[in-house]
Formats: sequence, C-alpha cells, structure tokens
Amino acid sequence: MAKRLGKTLIEEYDIAIGMIKIKILHSSFRRKMQIDESGEKLVDLRVECPKIDYVIADYLNQDGKHQGEVEDAYFVRESIARMINTAQAALPDGFRLLVRCGYRTPEVQARQYIHDYAELKQKNPSWSKEKLDYEIEKRTDPPDVGPHCTGGAVDLSILNDQGVQPNMGTDMGVFNFDTYTYSDTISDDVKANRKILIDAMQSAGFFNFPGEWWHWSYGDREWAFANNKTAFYGAIERRQPTLSKSGHFNDIVVQASKRILVESN
Ligand SMILES: [Zn+2]
Repeated sequence: MAKRLGKTLIEEYDIAIGMIKIKILHSSFRRKMQIDESGEKLVDLRVECPKIDYVIADYLNQDGKHQGEVEDAYFVRESIARMINTAQAALPDGFRLLVRCGYRTPEVQARQYIHDYAELKQKNPSWSKEKLDYEIEKRTDPPDVGPHCTGGAVDLSILNDQGVQPNMGTDMGVFNFDTYTYSDTISDDVKANRKILIDAMQSAGFFNFPGEWWHWSYGDREWAFANNKTAFYGAIERRQPTLSKSGHFNDIVVQASKRILVESN
C-alpha cells in the first residue's frame, strides 16, 4: 500500500499475522527532508553514562564477514548521552539500560545494505527489482539516511535489579512479528517489560521506531517527522573512513549511495 503525500511517497506496510500496522518513512522521502545540522560532537557513552551496561552489536567488515564488537557503537551525540542519563534515572531502582548500538559509520551501513540486498535477492530469485527495492525498505536503511549514522539513534534494552534482561519478546536485532513495539502477539509480561523501557525513554524525549522495540532516536529525520520538527542530526563521520584498495576516500559509501539514489528515483 502506498500513499501519496504531496510529491512524496510513504509506504504503509501490513506487517503482522495480527492486525498491527506500522508506517515506515520511505528512504526516498527521508532523503528529501531538510536537516539543520547542529554540529554537536559524538561522545563516548562509557565516559558520559557510567550507570549503563552494554552488549555491543556485531558489524560486517570489508569482506562481508562479522568482525565482532566495534568501538563506534559506544558513541552518540552529546545530547543523546545526556538524555540516556535522564532515561536511566527514570528506571525503577536497580534497573539499568543495556545498549547494543549507538553510532554506526556510513561505511558499515553501506556494507550492511549491500549485503542484505544481495541476500534478499539470492533467497528470492523470482523477485523483480521493484519487489526487492520494496522489501529492502523494511529491513535496512541506505547509508545516507540511516539513523545510526547520525549519532542520534540508539538500540537498547534493560537489565532488571538482578542484572538480567527481562523477557522483551525478542532479542535486540531479531526480526519476527514480536519485534514490533506494540505487537499483538506478545504476552502481557513482555508488554509490561517493554513499558518500563518505553516510559523511561519517552520521559527523556526519545522517539521509538515502531518496527523495532529497541530502536530510539532524537534529532534525526524519523524523530523530526513524528514530532513535526526539522531534523538537526545528519550523517556524520567519527573519523577518516577506511581507504579502499583503489585508494579512493570512502568510495564504498559513495558507490552504494549512488546506486541507491539511482534506484530510488
Ligand atoms: Zn536501531
């Protein structure tokens, strides 16, 4: 189902065995949204937020293989770190936030996008290019609009007062019908556990992407659209991206973005 809003396109996906529907802003729509970049720097959560815990995500390296924990994931914009402390303080006594991923480089995001697109194509050889483009929108963001590339998004869960992650329905990064924040297939226990996270994060000013209970952002385009504001965090580089074999600066991101731009027009 596609709805026209002016010149833009918003896809509304029918997602569950149940009746839950969520809206996902198409990447071509987000690409056109204005950003008044604040210039805020990236800071290390391990320094700024001493009370929280980590189970850091795994990323793909240049060969498309998993490379283990990546330091970038500990970084977020300054305001995000302050807001995470506010959310932490709003949790019940003894509970802690458990962070999986803050910042992600555009290069890593591009690798993930290319990998996921290729995998989707391989698993579904009969799908047209149009179908592949439609389906990838539900899974992975292109690097130029990926919220984690702005430093304004964070994936996180909670640890209870026993230091254990309560049943949140799925692990972070696992996709099924229970992944949607307000899925109608989750138990009352899971709903109650998610509510602890939701209440703390919302009280600090974060916006939840409804397709992933763990994904929260502020200042990026998804937050801006939901709050009728202008985004102030765009994609940012934490350090010089890896040089490719050909020696060109960041060319994996450039190539991926070019291809994506061509395909989305
Ligand atoms: Zn996320």
